[in-house]
Formats: sequence, structure tokens, C-alpha cells
Amino acid sequence: MSDSPLHSLAQFALVKERRSVVPYSFVRSFRLLPLEQREELWLVAVAGISNNLGLDPLKLLLGPQIQEVACSEQALEEAIEICFQGSRFVPTEESGPIASQEGLEGYDLLGRSGEELSPVALLDDVLLEAIQRGASDIHFEPQEDGLSVRIRVDGVLSNRRLLPAQFKAQILTRVKVLSHLDIAEQRLPQDGRLRLRVGARQIDFRVSTLPVLGGERIVLRILDRGNLELGLTHLQMPEELLERLLRYLSRTEGMLLVTGPTGSGKTTTLYSALKQIDSSEINLMTVEDPIEYRLPGVAQIGVNPKIDLTFAAALRHVLRQDPDVVMVGEIRDAETAQIAVQAALTGHLVLSTLHTNDAPSALTRLVDMGIEPFLLSSSVIGVLAQRLVRCLCPHCRQPDPLHPGFFIGAGCDRCLGSGYRGRRAAYELMAVTGKIQRQVVESADAARLRDIALEEGMRTLRDDGLRIAALGETSLSEVLRVTRGSEE
Ligand SMILES: [Zn+2]
Repeated sequence: MSDSPLHSLAQFALVKERRSVVPYSFVRSFRLLPLEQREELWLVAVAGISNNLGLDPLKLLLGPQIQEVACSEQALEEAIEICFQGSRFVPTEESGPIASQEGLEGYDLLGRSGEELSPVALLDDVLLEAIQRGASDIHFEPQEDGLSVRIRVDGVLSNRRLLPAQFKAQILTRVKVLSHLDIAEQRLPQDGRLRLRVGARQIDFRVSTLPVLGGERIVLRILDRGNLELGLTHLQMPEELLERLLRYLSRTEGMLLVTGPTGSGKTTTLYSALKQIDSSEINLMTVEDPIEYRLPGVAQIGVNPKIDLTFAAALRHVLRQDPDVVMVGEIRDAETAQIAVQAALTGHLVLSTLHTNDAPSALTRLVDMGIEPFLLSSSVIGVLAQRLVRCLCPHCRQPDPLHPGFFIGAGCDRCLGSGYRGRRAAYELMAVTGKIQRQVVESADAARLRDIALEEGMRTLRDDGLRIAALGETSLSEVLRVTRGSEE
């Protein structure tokens, strides 16, 4: 079983159990990892050369019988990440220095040893827990009796803990130091970036501070897209909708809009669309704030208002670079809207997002931003609205006693009692048909546009949510919760 130098280490007991019997700093320094105990014998993964200097100290820790399991650097890294992500190791001895690793930047959350009660240790624990639980945001809020920590998982905020009041200032200061912010400035809001490591994994955060009564609030948004599977086929769209979307994406001119509130998965959809149309024969460019995911082969420009590189300014420059397809992260202002519409009318396919509740409102929002209705009607080809619904936890899913045919989540340890794990999107795609175009020119309101779209067969966000609930993947109450506000 251990002959192949490249085999994965996932089959061994400690990797399966996601724990380690030696400190992280030891594993990092010597590049070896105990895998499994078989009676007196310990199997230990070793990457690279034999005669590892760590074997002797390891025998002192585990006993004299050690068998080396040769593996690749990558297999070792993966196993280290798994073993130290699942649970925190409680070290029994003072650990050695941590070897620095090529190509990895950021403060390593697993690099600290000891369980001491210090501001540094508490903050590390908070960040690690949030990452392990798949949180998208971490909120630090000063209270009178301490520093409250809340994390957002699957779109829902929950209280995690209250850190001791005596560490409040130190923890907030430490977040600011790690984010390269001005620690002396406590009266003005600041924005920054924070890079952390969890073993081999690098995680970026966007950091925002805001002075409030009693101190500073700090919110970290996790930008880690390490596990994101891009591509429209991964988005679980209804087949007919996907086909129409692909037709829009094959056009050489026009604008396709994706709408929904913050955190509804719009960016993932746009990135997936870009990946779909990416080819060496077309010039793909993006203007984003911030760049959330690096797409190989795509020229991505990050907006930077500090040097006057706004959405509008960046978009103007991009259009001078002969693009075929342009993605504008978000249309927030009239100037950007004007340029984007012009681009869509002059031989570019433009993809962008807007903050509206449903597909028809995207068109009226652009009119409100000052776009001439006749320009709008001839530039926008389709609007996709979306929401994320939480998926029922497969471990505690059960029939809904009130609504036969549907399911609910009872709540269990694996889903932290919520009944849900993970999310998927519900969609509503409005085609800008001749009839819709005429109504836009006649300045119809969103309700009127919606009626026509429905007459023409548009399936609404709620229809799609009900389809997902009927598949048993989410609950009726979840569909009603997330589609609230999208229908009259
Ligand atoms: Zn559960």
C-alpha cells in the first residue's frame, strides 16, 4: 500500500480522523506526518529524501518503531492541511522553529503552538473556526462586556462568542496590524486586505473598519475561492434556462445582466460565464471591485478609487484595448451605466451585475440611472435574477409533516442544528423580446414588464425555488424566505 511514491495519504487513520499526534510546527519543520498506529508500529509520511532529521525526535515522541511512507510533497501538504484543519492539536512540549515555505505568503494560522489564553491565540481561533465552518464574513463588534464575534455561514449570521473585555482593544489592533491599516486612526473608516494561511492554503480577506459608539467595528470578508468550481454546468441551472443563457453568451454584441442582492452568487455566475466563453480567439477583459478570483488568460482590472481608477474610468481604458467581451463587476453609477450601454451597442458583449430584486426591475433601474429607454431596449438582451437557497442537511433531512411531498431539516451536529448545509441558486431569466423592448421604450414600470415576461413564459425565482424544494433539496420555508420581495 505504501510502495507508490505518489499515492494519496487520505486512506490513513489520522488523516481520515482529521487530527495529528504531533505539533504543527514539528510537522512543518521536518516535513513528516504520523499517519496511523498499528500496534507498536507507527506509519509516518515523509516527503522527499530519506534520513529525515525529524525521525529521531519523533521516536522520542511516539516510540521506537517507525515505518516511513514515502510520498510526494503535494500529498504531504494535502494531508497536513486535512489533519490540522479538523481540530486543533494540543501540544505536549515546546515546539521548534517553523520552516518558511516557498511561494506562500501570509500569517500562518496553524503556525502558533500552545493553547494559551492571549489575544493572539483567541484571534487565531476565531479566524480558524470561521474558515473551517466555511464562513463568508466575520464580524467583530465592541460591546460593553467584551468583543462579540459573529460569522456568516450559508448567508445567515450567527453569534459565535464574546471575547473578554480586557482583550478588546488588543484584538482589534491586531486585526488592523495584520491588514496593514493605520492603527492610530480610530475615528475614520478604513479598508484593507489581509492574507492568512492555513497550512498550504492561502486565504485573502477584505477588511473594513468603522468607528461606532464604544470602539471600532471590523468586518472581514473572506475572498478565498479555493473551492469554487467554475463553469455554467456546475451551477445546477434548469436545462432550458442554461440553453438560453448559452445562446446569449454566443452573441457578439449586447448586454447580459445578472441581478440579486449582495451574496446571491452573481459573481460566481459571471465568472462561470466568462470561463464558458474564454478562448484564445477572443479578448476577454474585466473591471472589478475587488478581483475575487483570478481567471487565467483574462485581463482583470481592479478598481481603485484612491488613485481615481473608478469603474467608469477603468471601463473607458478597457474599451481602448479592443476587447470582445467585457465584464463590469457591478453597475453602481450613471456614468458606468452609460459607458457599458454604449459598449454593448458597438460590438462588444457586456456582462454585468445590478442590485435589484428581480429581473424586470433591472431595466427600470437603468432608466432611473438616466439611460435612454430606446438605447436600453436595443442593448440589453437578457436579465438573469438569482438567489441562493440553503440546501437541506442530508444527515437530518426528513418529510415535512405539514406539506406532503416536501422536506425539512431537523437539525443535527453536522449542520450545527440549522438543518441546512451548503447552498445552491434559484434563477429567473427574462428575455428582452420585441414586446418587452416596446414596453421599455414606452417607459413601462417593472410590474408591467413582469406581467409581459410572465405571459411570455418566464419562470420566476419562486417557481425555480419550488422546483428545487420539490426535488427535496431545500424546504418550502427556505424558498419563501429567500424569494421574499421578489414578487408582488
Ligand atoms: Zn443536519
